[in-house]
Parts: sequence; C-alpha cells; structure tokens
Amino acid sequence: MTFRVEIVFDKHYSCPSGHDSNEHATDLDRRTWTCRTCQQSVHIEMVDKAGNSYIVERRQAREIRMDDYIVYRVKSGIACNFVTGSNPSKYKVGKWYLGVKDFGSDADLSPDQYISRIP
Ligand SMILES: [Zn+2]
Repeated sequence: MTFRVEIVFDKHYSCPSGHDSNEHATDLDRRTWTCRTCQQSVHIEMVDKAGNSYIVERRQAREIRMDDYIVYRVKSGIACNFVTGSNPSKYKVGKWYLGVKDFGSDADLSPDQYISRIP
C-alpha cells in the first residue's frame, strides 16, 4: 500500500486558468505541481488501463482534510476513495498520518509528500 504519486498514470496536465493553449502548453512546475504562470495547482487527468479516469490536483499531505477524495495506486491501476483521517502521526514525530476508506492508512508519511486529490 502506498500513497506515492504515480506519474505513470498521468495523461494530461492543464491549468485551471487556461494557460495551456496549443501555442503555450502548461508550464508545469513538477516540484510543486503548479502552473508557473499563475501558481495555481494544475489539473491532472489520470487514467489506468482498466479505464478508470480521474481529474486530480496534487497537494501536500498536510493540506489534505477528512472527507477529501484522493486517488491512489492499487495493484492493477488507480482507485479513489475518501479520507478518514489526516493529521500529524501519533507514532513518529515529524511524520504524517493519512487514512483512506477501504484502502488503509500510513502513519509514516512526510507532511510535504504530494497526494492526488479530487479538486
Ligand atoms: Zn496558469
């Protein structure tokens, strides 16, 4: 089980403010998953081989809230469910806890780790 971002499923990046015409592709900052022109989180279309498809943005674990829907890796592709808990880890200082319905939890995340969230 992992919440690691899997860019292998990324199909298309687009800026929500439209900085992605044919002449000017979205200038994506892959370090922060934002548009370099307007600093907003880019919208990312994720698709797997089974045809599951989601539009996500990438936010740091510390910004994820209970009841947010996030997209994560499963054996065969990607899946989506809602967050049951997102808070500082009770077990390790400086780490983050994230739990997702019917998937599991991880109490050893970096609070800075990027998570795919449905905007
Ligand atoms: Zn933009």
